[in-house]
Amino acid sequence: MKELESIDLKILKEYYPLLEKLISLDELLWLNPSLEPFKTGINKCPLSQKDVNDAEERLKRFAPYIAKVFPETEKTNGIIESPLAEIPAMKQSLEQTYNQPIFGELLLKCDSHLPISGSIKARGGIYEVLKHAEQLALKHKLLTTEDDYAILDSQKFRTFFSNYSIAVGSTGNLGLSIGIMSAKLGFKVTVHMSADAKQWKKDLLRSKNVQVIEYEADYSKAVEEGRLQAEQDPTCHFIDDENSTDLFLGYAVAASRLQKQLEELEITVDEDHPLFVYLPCGVGGGPGGIAFGLKLLFQDHVHCFFAEPTHSPCMLLGLMTGLHEQISVQDIGIDNITDADGLAVGRPSGFVGKTIEPFLSGSYTVSDEELYKLLKELADTENIYLEPSALAGMIGSIKLYKEGSEYLQKHLLTEKMTSATHIVWGTGGNMVPEEMMKQYYQKGLDLMLED
Ligand SMILES: *Cc1c(COP(=O)(O)O)cnc(C)c1O
Repeated sequence: MKELESIDLKILKEYYPLLEKLISLDELLWLNPSLEPFKTGINKCPLSQKDVNDAEERLKRFAPYIAKVFPETEKTNGIIESPLAEIPAMKQSLEQTYNQPIFGELLLKCDSHLPISGSIKARGGIYEVLKHAEQLALKHKLLTTEDDYAILDSQKFRTFFSNYSIAVGSTGNLGLSIGIMSAKLGFKVTVHMSADAKQWKKDLLRSKNVQVIEYEADYSKAVEEGRLQAEQDPTCHFIDDENSTDLFLGYAVAASRLQKQLEELEITVDEDHPLFVYLPCGVGGGPGGIAFGLKLLFQDHVHCFFAEPTHSPCMLLGLMTGLHEQISVQDIGIDNITDADGLAVGRPSGFVGKTIEPFLSGSYTVSDEELYKLLKELADTENIYLEPSALAGMIGSIKLYKEGSEYLQKHLLTEKMTSATHIVWGTGGNMVPEEMMKQYYQKGLDLMLED
């Protein structure tokens, strides 16, 4: 990885006055000056709809296998998908709390309730494992793409896959997805966990025969170590959260699924009905892939915003300075310590940053305290329980209306907002143990009582 010799903070601050606010850990909204009309942006992009379609087809081939080995996916015929929910009571609560009307519809995409691993990582993470398994099986002539992939659920295939290993570095949720899926297929699997990773995630993985290696350091270190160890072993496939196009494409498949759900709810997205999507961002692959997929389908009618903790705004920093993976939040004196463990990433993916740059509308930061309060409020109003990271998108529409009028004016959206749809991407939470969730809720309650 390339790194700057040294970051001259004084010069950076002169160029990017917003940095001061970022360093002060104040919440802020940044609008992306590199946003381009879709048609010009896509011309520079090495990935296309064809790549996303290929990923979607692959997931369909695996559906009979998934339905067989994960019975909770039977009702969707082995397609791993989450509900899109209306959250009117939460909307009302947000409007009151922030004293700000939210024009348009507010919906929650419940990736928190994705089957198998209960987070957004059940998209990209599982997809990459499946793709790798397919490639190995095809290469060894054990499988053809015409077969019913349910045959993968057999001792023969598990024995075959046990000759290969898979490794990944993670703050927790990616490890869960990769670990559960790889172990199910029969792979040997090692998850390198950062210090943020929760104990219950490590315990769960170990109970499934996944090797878990723990680090005192943060996510970037866990990935680096994992990559190094995997390089020593030619039979090991390293799932590279910082650079993988497969992960990215697995996430991007979400877009066509969402399009169908919007149609079912009779929600239009077009010139006069803009769609706004707020995506919690860690290293960038999940939100980046989904935003990319959405731009391919809805082009200039969809407006994607990333959301990051005030203590881990790595993607915002990389995009704003144009330095991408060459700068980390630690370089500017931010500690990367947040309770939003899924977002506790100090250095962004350069691949995602550069790919998403022409398509992203903006990015904002949110404090941990705010995440807890939103967690409590969503539980009270809609009886939906998310993990702290997953609440980062919940404040997006408020940020947009309060601080983004320049964006709305520039894109001639101000008059159209009563016909807008806002989607909050709820990225995780369903697997959190009850006791832990109670503590999260209590924390939100305590913070509210302090106000
Ligand atoms: C991983 C994760 C994200 C962000 O995905 P990245 O690919 O790391 O940007 C958001 N929310 C939750 C709950 C996550 O686990």
